[in-house]
Parts: sequence; structure tokens; C-alpha cells
Amino acid sequence: MEIPDPYLNIVKANYEGLEKREFDSDSLSRYFRGCFDETASYYHIYDAWACVECLRVGTRTMELGLKPQRCPRCSAPVFQIGTFQSRASRMGKAFEFAFMYLMSSHFGIELRHIGEKNKVFDFEYKDGVVIEAKGSPDYTVLPDGAHLRLKRAGMRRSDTKKKAFANAEDWKRRLTKGRFYIVTNANPSDLVEYQTDYVSGIYDITKKNQLDDFVRALTA
Ligand SMILES: [Zn+2]
Repeated sequence: MEIPDPYLNIVKANYEGLEKREFDSDSLSRYFRGCFDETASYYHIYDAWACVECLRVGTRTMELGLKPQRCPRCSAPVFQIGTFQSRASRMGKAFEFAFMYLMSSHFGIELRHIGEKNKVFDFEYKDGVVIEAKGSPDYTVLPDGAHLRLKRAGMRRSDTKKKAFANAEDWKRRLTKGRFYIVTNANPSDLVEYQTDYVSGIYDITKKNQLDDFVRALTA
């Protein structure tokens, strides 16, 4: 199992916490949230916004957090600065490696991480059985550790869902007999037990019953 720094340390430390608790949905959610939080603080992925109009007239109006509708000082439109792109990719990796570590340590399942070379899926279990991981937090973290809620996480984001389905279709066209699974940390109710010709199953692996269903389906 190859997990690069800093993710290996982050995932390991959080997994030790998971092992000390009862293995249930609550501790699984905490495990993934811990990996997200520590990745955010390691990379300083903090949202901030600024008012460009204030900057122009020499007042530096900028703050941590999500931007307000308008600048509270001058009412001009304000801009989110900085971190959205790096958050998406780093939180995605935190989820991937937390998943990979959990599979290996708790279930003894070694997944091959495909990484950047293949954009269509993230892991291979065996020939023709692959997994796409779509995880992201439903909050953003501030430097003091506080959480600000975001509207959508994981497969609740329509662009994430579209991308995952397109990848599944793409892959299935090439290998019609294969199985393509999607794992996430947020699954809207209409996608639970969802199956198509392309998608073999979608599982919220922060929920104990869906995680167990996933492992059963994968190893069947
Ligand atoms: Zn302003």
C-alpha cells in the first residue's frame, strides 16, 4: 500500500482513533472528517475573501471565511480568494487515501491506487473491477478549527455526480464485463442502491451498513 506524505501520517493517526472506538457510522464519519480537517490545516486551505474596491481606495477589507453578498464597508461586490481549486484536489486525495487505508487495515483488502495517469477511476481491486472515489467535506475549515458549512458534498454535487457517471460509462464501453463502483462520503437518497449498465453501485462508506454492502459486493 503506497500512500504519500502528508496523507499517510494523517490517515494513520485518525485510523488509530477509529480503532479505539466502536466500529460504527459515527466513528467512520469522525475518521473521514478528521482526515479532511488535518489535510486542510496541513495545506492551509482556508477560504478568504477580499473587496477589490476597498483595496483600490486603500482600505484593506478582507477576511477569512466565505464571502458576504457585498462588502460590509463599501457595498461593492467582493471576491472569494485563494483556495477552492486546491481544496477540491487535496480533499479528494485525503478521502481516497483514508478509504484505501481503511480497506487494507480493517478488511485486509489491498487496492491498487491508479492515481493521476488514469482519470476514469481511482482504484483497481482486480482485473475488471474498479472503484471511483468521490469524497469532499460539506464544510470548510477556518484556522481556529471552526467549520463553515458548504451546500454540497460528495455525490450531492451535481458536477461530481456527472463526472463520476461519465467516467463509468467511458470505462464500461471499453470493458463491458467489468464492474465499476463509486464510493463517497455523501450519497443522496436517490443514489442509494442505484445501478445502471455502467454503475455497479454507489456507497456512502461513512455509513456502516453501506460500507459493509460495498465490501460484500466488491468481493463477491
Ligand atoms: Zn469594500
